[in-house]
Amino acid sequence: MKKLQGVYEDVLKRDANEPEFLQAVKEVLDSLEPVAEKYPEFLEAGIFNRIVEPERQIIFRVPWVNDKGEVIVNRGFRVQFNSAIGPYKGGLRFHPSVNLGIIKFLGFEQIFKNSLTGLPMGGGKGGSDFDPKGKSDGEIMRFCQSFMFELARHIGPDTDVPAGDIGVGAREVGYMFGMYKKIRNEFTGILTGKGLTYGGSLARTEATGYGLCYFLEEAMKNIRGRSFEGATVVISGSGNVAIYAAQKAMQLGAKVVAMSDSSGYIYDKNGIDLDAIKKIKEVERKRINEYLKYHPDATFTTGCNNIWTVKCDIAMPCATQNELDLNAAKTLVANGCFAVGEGANMPTTPDAVDYLLEKGIVYTPGKASNAGGVACSGLEMTQNSMRLSWSFEEVDAKLKTIMVNIYRTASEAAKEFGYENNLVVGANIAGFMKVARAMLAQGVTY
Ligand code: NDP
Repeated sequence: MKKLQGVYEDVLKRDANEPEFLQAVKEVLDSLEPVAEKYPEFLEAGIFNRIVEPERQIIFRVPWVNDKGEVIVNRGFRVQFNSAIGPYKGGLRFHPSVNLGIIKFLGFEQIFKNSLTGLPMGGGKGGSDFDPKGKSDGEIMRFCQSFMFELARHIGPDTDVPAGDIGVGAREVGYMFGMYKKIRNEFTGILTGKGLTYGGSLARTEATGYGLCYFLEEAMKNIRGRSFEGATVVISGSGNVAIYAAQKAMQLGAKVVAMSDSSGYIYDKNGIDLDAIKKIKEVERKRINEYLKYHPDATFTTGCNNIWTVKCDIAMPCATQNELDLNAAKTLVANGCFAVGEGANMPTTPDAVDYLLEKGIVYTPGKASNAGGVACSGLEMTQNSMRLSWSFEEVDAKLKTIMVNIYRTASEAAKEFGYENNLVVGANIAGFMKVARAMLAQGVTY
């Protein structure tokens, strides 16, 4: 009988309609079985039961007026999951698929990810079912202002510091920051991912993608003696994480041949022209098939999931959850892929993860390999508190050190518990230990 089976069954009963949250909880609890065995004090203090329940979850109405003068109502969320080791920290996602279960899965993952960075940040996540696609700048601004009007009463620089995620980039963070400042009459580091003119950190934009490549490079070197040099790479997504993962992979000597958005994927055998992608996605905010206007010899295929049929050495899922399933994993392995590095949160389904590990593929779970974004957000908070700004090179060097340290910490934890090279188990255990010890020390807080 597993020691944590009962904990999972309680979550299953209570949150039966939240499949993504259940998936994330199951993976973590399965990894923590040997910890429950070795440290009975965690069980006795109810740490496992407490860690799977958010400290607080806030759901609110977000009314706003569109360009036609119509009143639209969206739903806003902020889940403040765990503050044992620092203020709640985690991004905001604006996407029509957003619901409480998705925000809870992301907030839960964030606890362990933030702990792994070694910085003092608790776990949280938020967002809205608002769809930014096709909205004018004015509509985006009015939505962000209405969203912040409510969120402002729940956050603060020492309480909860949100950031970006899917659908929330520098533009949205700017509108929300402006509204917070107006409501509170305070200029504080209340959000990260800010613009450089008002407290943002150099290298924050690049941090998640760059951090993913630093982490994966370290894992490939240690586990398989391989690297990005000369490798062919496929990356899903073409947003913030995907673009800067592609940029760093290219700098490290790889050729990126395919990228996607939710409409489909492009394949360019000559290697993706990242300037064209940035223009289409960051400036014009258009669909990825526009790439063919710049490179008519490339191809566009409708449907994003088939991107994993493109032959590659390294795959980096950087779009969304559960985008790489067992079939995709089998195709990747059959085509000679030797590493899968997650930039997105939980992009690989559990059966696909098992398959990749069984086949000896270097597999890096998102909660470790995409931690560069929040790590850099932590560095942004430090710069804001100190009222100074570090150079790009300084931040990038700190980011690289943090990513290599996360790899070592996760790898050592995996080894200690008899799961050598299993970074899923290693990241979950290493991330958990610090939070669990802090919770134990702080007692059962009422
Ligand atoms: P962006 O909004 O910048 O880009 C998201 C990309 O993924 C777009 O290309 C989008 O296509 C695609 N995408 C989104 N949803 C779906 C879907 N349901 N099916 C297929 N494609 C989809 O987001 P980010 O790059 O910031 O985030 C990507 C992933 O990385 C997310 O899982 C996020 O949680 C994770 N992450 C992000 C961090 C950050 O610092 N930004 C930090 C750590 C993790 P389209 O435009 O067509 O919707």
